[in-house]
Amino acid sequence: MDPKVIEGLKSIVGPDYVISDPEGVKPYLLDETSKNICPEPFLDVVVVKPKNTEEVSKVMKFAYNNEISVVPRGGGTGLAGGVVPIKPSIILSLERIKEKIEVDKDNLTMTCDAGVTLGEILEHLEKNVEDLWFPLHPGDEGATIGGLAACNAGGARAVKYGVMRNYVAGMTVVLPTGEVLRLGGKMVKNVTGYNLMHLLIGSEGTLGIITEVTFRLRPKPWGTYTLVVPYEDPNKAIETVPPILRSGVIPLAIEYIEKEGIEAGEKATGEKWPVKEGQAFLMIVLEGMSEEELLSMSEKVAEICQGHGATDIFLADTRRQQERILKVRSLIYEGLKDETVEILDVGVPIASIAEFVNESRKIGEKYGMKIVQYGHAGDGNVHQHPLKTGFKEEEWRAFYPDLKKEIFALARRLGGTLTAEHGIGLITREDLLSYLSEEEMRLMKGIKSLFDPESLLNIG
Ligand SMILES: Cc1cc2nc3c(=O)[nH]c(=O)nc-3n(C[C@H](O)[C@H](O)[C@H](O)COP(=O)(O)OP(=O)(O)OC[C@H]3O[C@@H](n4cnc5c(N)ncnc54)[C@H](O)[C@@H]3O)c2cc1C
Repeated sequence: MDPKVIEGLKSIVGPDYVISDPEGVKPYLLDETSKNICPEPFLDVVVVKPKNTEEVSKVMKFAYNNEISVVPRGGGTGLAGGVVPIKPSIILSLERIKEKIEVDKDNLTMTCDAGVTLGEILEHLEKNVEDLWFPLHPGDEGATIGGLAACNAGGARAVKYGVMRNYVAGMTVVLPTGEVLRLGGKMVKNVTGYNLMHLLIGSEGTLGIITEVTFRLRPKPWGTYTLVVPYEDPNKAIETVPPILRSGVIPLAIEYIEKEGIEAGEKATGEKWPVKEGQAFLMIVLEGMSEEELLSMSEKVAEICQGHGATDIFLADTRRQQERILKVRSLIYEGLKDETVEILDVGVPIASIAEFVNESRKIGEKYGMKIVQYGHAGDGNVHQHPLKTGFKEEEWRAFYPDLKKEIFALARRLGGTLTAEHGIGLITREDLLSYLSEEEMRLMKGIKSLFDPESLLNIG
């Protein structure tokens, strides 16, 4: 990197907060995307760590005046290669922007600097606020609130509570040209002009840098129960989802997990799944304002599951039991990481999940590749892990692109989308071009050039 750029950045944030040596920049080059599909990072980069919005603005003005690409980086937990530099770049890490964590109880909102992590938000609420909670769990707990908003992250609780877009109420954004915008606020309704904030949500760092987020909180429930529901026939498990959603009980989460997923989660955690039999499972989390409400919801859901072929249902009603179950579910990816080519993130309409899961399995079989499927069945977003076990590298690389294309084509045929929550990043960029119509592409390019006339921000 040009020494003048390094000096220029040091003059803005101070010498301690600019890293340019190869060892020092290494931890900033990748995210959690599978190495099998992640592009090689460009090494001619410099990392800068501004401490507040004002410094971000100065860095952006400097980058704009010198025509240098900028890659914003939050917690680096993304699964789409969004933070990977692919040309000479300034990596703008938001890790120091984390002073503000404020709860406004009367407006049921919380305002945090962009670098505050999901884990820190949950901990702050648990320790300091008795009656409110942030009901989503939209990503890894190391993800930042800025990154979660930038990715419009979803997670298992979208069934009941939606995704980040439904919670972000306001934000501070630095444009690629360095101007600072305050968008939205704590009000509930707002139709004053185009909603620019909603363009920023899900823009994955291509339109501006989010430095502060105000988001909504909800009344804290009395408690949760978790049902682990085993099925011998995986199709029956998936087919139970629409009847549950129609029943009047809206679970906090309905997760579908195949047996191999459970085994991977057990391996990663050392915990035991509470049910032995079953080829596939639904993990259904219910929340309620009283014990009676939870018991009545559990009975209703259990009855529906049994009517659809479920065998012995396990009800976890203590916090400890539920945490252990959730831990196994949360670490499935960790357990499969070494064997999986990548995580696919297709979303389909709820009525088509059974067909999607079934047909995907057949596509895998056609190529001789096992696909482990698990995830957010309640919102049509079952993740798929194609396993490379038993193949030489050159073997799976030869057919995998065709397998993936078939799964994407299946999703399209069923009225679905290529990525439901992980985002486009670098890894789905080419597929996006074939997914969108020319007209949609023209509008998106127009929006990008209005925000970022020199195309410097996350140019991947
Ligand atoms: C174990 C695990 C579980 C996960 N579970 C889920 C899940 O259930 N649901 C889900 O949706 N995702 C999930 N994720 C993915 C990830 O946690 C989310 O995508 C999250 O939103 C990324 O936030 P981050 O701060 O780590 O962003 P990063 O990875 O640092 O960045 C992601 C993208 O956002 C941009 N960006 C980051 N911060 C900003 C900012 N302040 N302003 C502008 N652009 C910015 C980056 O340039 C990049 O393009 C999971 C990941 C892991 C590893």
